[in-house]
Amino acid sequence: MNDIIKKLVVALLPWYSQSARDLPWRREPHSKDPYCIYVSEIMLQQTQVKTVIPYWERWMRALPTIESLAAARPDVIHKLWEGLGYYTRVRNMQKAAQEIVAHHQGRFPRDFESILALPGIGRYTAGAISSIAFNEPRPILDGNVIRVLTRLFGIAENPREKSANQKLWHLAEELVTAGSQPEIRREYPESCSHLNQSLMELGALICTPKQPRCLLCPVQSNCTAHRSKRVGQLPNLGPRLPTTSRHFAAFVIKNRGRFLVRQRPAGVVNAHLWEFPNVETTANNSTLDQLAKKHLGLNITTLERFCDIKHTITRYRITLEVYHAKAQLPKLPPAAGWATSNEMASLAFTSAHGKILKRLRE
Ligand code: SF4
Repeated sequence: MNDIIKKLVVALLPWYSQSARDLPWRREPHSKDPYCIYVSEIMLQQTQVKTVIPYWERWMRALPTIESLAAARPDVIHKLWEGLGYYTRVRNMQKAAQEIVAHHQGRFPRDFESILALPGIGRYTAGAISSIAFNEPRPILDGNVIRVLTRLFGIAENPREKSANQKLWHLAEELVTAGSQPEIRREYPESCSHLNQSLMELGALICTPKQPRCLLCPVQSNCTAHRSKRVGQLPNLGPRLPTTSRHFAAFVIKNRGRFLVRQRPAGVVNAHLWEFPNVETTANNSTLDQLAKKHLGLNITTLERFCDIKHTITRYRITLEVYHAKAQLPKLPPAAGWATSNEMASLAFTSAHGKILKRLRE
């Protein structure tokens, strides 16, 4: 076993035992349940732990088993995911659950290749489920682990480039393999699970993107970046992508206590989610009435500014101007319908339009 790798393993495992956060999916009886871990891992790919906790708890109450996820109505899973974004992931989770029910008797497969073959499960998620639920020596590499490993090993190449990425996967594999050795397992029976989680935890708590807490770090004495004073330069993620501004106008149209809402079609961003009728106004010289007529078939008769919503998706900075509108509707726009406030509360709205709903309630 490489000497540095061994030193890291024997420093990380006791640190994890003492410092791991008490998270709902780490408690019994969930800590080795592959379904619970799967749900937490997919949610954690979207956002931070503190946001995920209430989502995960709500999900587990509503869909406590693989069978219940496989059989759930699409509007139920979308509602449970509302606000997390990347809705393809939640639809893939249901496809994976259906495949587990159809081909694995409803039990999560143990074998890594079978986990990897499930819809929407890539190398990271398969490694996380395999190591955390089944204590298998399978590596993981997410943003936190990339940051920790590039600093520990002083890797100056951009980790998004293929050769650096391969190097990082290789290091992650060396670490978890070292953690699986009998002398380590004797002292730490959950060594593969805990070793991988210790890397994620170190990245989340100590080796943070800004102002890492090197003085509290259990592997400081073996850290190349710390020794060579390059902590602030690593990881080298290259130049940031430029941001793009987009402007939309949304229309809140109310008729006899019901609001006009529509469901986004399949194959577009936020597919199947609900929103108020809206049009993009960026780089468009037409008036709002003309745009509403052309794209939504609405004959707007009055418009009154209600609020502005700011929203960011990846590199897009979105401004949504929201209007109370009155309109004649020769026919409803595609996939549109009328819903009361209570009915809207049970629909899954896009994040930006969910903010409009919140403003309406206020
Ligand atoms: Fe990260 Fe600092 Fe620890 Fe190195 S010493 S792994 S830079 S927290």
